[in-house]
Amino acid sequence: MVTFMRPEILFPLFAPVSTLKGTGPKTAPLIARVAGPLVRDLVFTAPHSVIFRSPATAATAVEGEVQTFEVAIVQHLRPGKVGAPYKVRVSDPTGFMHLIYFKVFGDHLEKKLRVGSRWRVSGRVERFGAEVQIAHPDYLIPADSAEFPPSAEPVYPATAGLTSRQLQTVIHRALEKTPELPEWQDSAWLIQERLPSWREAVALLHAPETVEDVSPICAARRRLAYDELLAHQLALGRRKKARQAAPAPRLSPGPASSAMEAALPFRLTGAQQRALTDIRRDIAAGARMSRLLHGDVGSGKTVVAALAMADAASNGLQAALMAPTEILARQHFERLKPLWGAAGLDGVLLTGRDKGRARQQKLAWIADGSIAFIIGTHALFQESVEFRDLGLVVLDEQHRFGVAQRQQLQDKGRSVHVLALSATPIPRTLELTQFGDLEVSRLDEKPPGRKPVATRAIPGARIGEVVARLRTALESGAQAYWICPLVSESEASDLAAAEARWGNLTRALGDGVGLVHGRMSGPDKDAVMTDFAEGRIRLLVATTVVEVGVDVPNATIMVIEHAERFGLAQLHQLRGRVGRGAAESACILLYEGKLSEAASTRLDVLRRTEDGFEIAETDWALRGGGDLLGLKQSGFPDYRIADPVAHRDLLFAAAADARMILQKDPGFVTERGKALRVLTELYDWRPDRTDAPA
Ligand code: ADP
Ligand code: MG
Repeated sequence: MVTFMRPEILFPLFAPVSTLKGTGPKTAPLIARVAGPLVRDLVFTAPHSVIFRSPATAATAVEGEVQTFEVAIVQHLRPGKVGAPYKVRVSDPTGFMHLIYFKVFGDHLEKKLRVGSRWRVSGRVERFGAEVQIAHPDYLIPADSAEFPPSAEPVYPATAGLTSRQLQTVIHRALEKTPELPEWQDSAWLIQERLPSWREAVALLHAPETVEDVSPICAARRRLAYDELLAHQLALGRRKKARQAAPAPRLSPGPASSAMEAALPFRLTGAQQRALTDIRRDIAAGARMSRLLHGDVGSGKTVVAALAMADAASNGLQAALMAPTEILARQHFERLKPLWGAAGLDGVLLTGRDKGRARQQKLAWIADGSIAFIIGTHALFQESVEFRDLGLVVLDEQHRFGVAQRQQLQDKGRSVHVLALSATPIPRTLELTQFGDLEVSRLDEKPPGRKPVATRAIPGARIGEVVARLRTALESGAQAYWICPLVSESEASDLAAAEARWGNLTRALGDGVGLVHGRMSGPDKDAVMTDFAEGRIRLLVATTVVEVGVDVPNATIMVIEHAERFGLAQLHQLRGRVGRGAAESACILLYEGKLSEAASTRLDVLRRTEDGFEIAETDWALRGGGDLLGLKQSGFPDYRIADPVAHRDLLFAAAADARMILQKDPGFVTERGKALRVLTELYDWRPDRTDAPA
């Protein structure tokens, strides 16, 4: 891979903030907390709003507004008692006002604001009884000076010990050190989009004059957002290329593959076939595969993965499948065992529960290669597991794994192919930002015979009816899930709620009601899940542990309590647990209170469609940019300026642009390429940095 050196032109921007005048050992750490340690970080710290200072007089002052006055000092009124403020009485031709100061010691105010002298004063207007007052004015400028309080002023994120104004001052110093940089964007495009140059854009970023100037759609921010998105897409693209350059064993279908395929009790769907073709193309090419297999719950990802694993075995290599929970690992193991058997091969299940001699034995088999397939949980990769010859790793429910873990895995074998499975349908936006360094296959077709799940929203007050209908259904042989959400701050009280629900459902429905939750030990959980899978438990009360991957085709009813508290994607996942068999299925969304508009839209969408990708797009649109925490949780990179919702169009453009650049000028040697090196370094999203965002 081409690695770049930081170009000299960026040196001033990569200087520590402490090199700026007026930033001492006290303020530098505060600035670092708000903005970051470097001058560049200050330059990219965007104001979140703008204050307007309108000119006013004592007579026209408006409470709550930030206004500027020209006044004469009339009198100093020292506080009469402890804790009372110091007041300076001032006047203009229309009336009187007070400047208010707390904690004034000595006589410096009296010396500075001499009676009779004239000042420009600016600050937030307050009313105290009939009096207009300003507490601790932002500006006090002698009236004969050439200086005026600004009419508009950016507001920055402040922190204890560092005000927005102080930050503004250092940002100005930072801007003084900010050079012009070579243009890395296509100039025709800039003109067409009416976007400023980089240097102009950062100047404008910090000099808002209107509310539009602090909105994500203003030209300056769009320009900077595009830079940021392009830099990120280039980094992802380069990482992808670097990985593809790593040689890896060539795997092609062989005897194990055909034996396993022949042993399948069904035919692959077209989508499964296409995904398998994608995978086989990758793993036969001699370069390391990193592919994401994306498909809704129940779309049949496991079997596709299993066939790829068979290819590894056909070529004498081991294949590992890693699941996020023990229950899932166990289920995969049980499902896949007969397929391996058909191929005359052996597999092993390795979880955190394996201890002592049994574990040693399994590890020995894995190390000496007598085992072709290894199914396990995270534990599989955490410790001293030595593979004899690992060729392929499958990560089930990939969203449960962090980027670091993904990376860690790829470092495990000499050069291992990685197939990640994800059942969380995500919008294209996230696909690009989160998985831009992966190849993606989508399973957009479900196995045949699935019936739509009748979905209804019912007020919680009618829970009695629901239980009565549930009784009838269970009596006629159906099985059901009952989901109790985690709602309160305390897990203990949520658990108590789930246990209470289990208690009263047991009283209402008799035996055959089980409870499973996240606090249970692995063996206890597995025992309950097994009882459910084998029909001894008819109704499974669960906290959201069933969210992930469990497959019990006989379960046809899903009741979700407090459905209004779940996100759309999560509801969709939960609903995906039913509707897997031939019988009609139902999903009942119990909601409490009056539904918020967003919650009712969510439930409507669920009723309308079962297409996970459509649901994901809607969820995304509904959450908008407001839910930043949600974005972080969904793995959205920590952009400085770019906003995934407001700049969606730019993201798609940047992705296309990056692809084109990496194809036409992979070495970054053209004029634009050289400028793009500066961009890449400016944002520091180096493809070789594993701590970088996604
Ligand atoms: P997911 O994509 O959610 O991991 P699974 O791999 O667990 O889905 O598959 C869900 C169910 O569908 C399983 O019971 C599986 O055996 C079944 N299945 C998978 N592919 C097909 C197919 N082509 N035809 C019929 N059933 C299938
Ligand atoms: Mg699955």
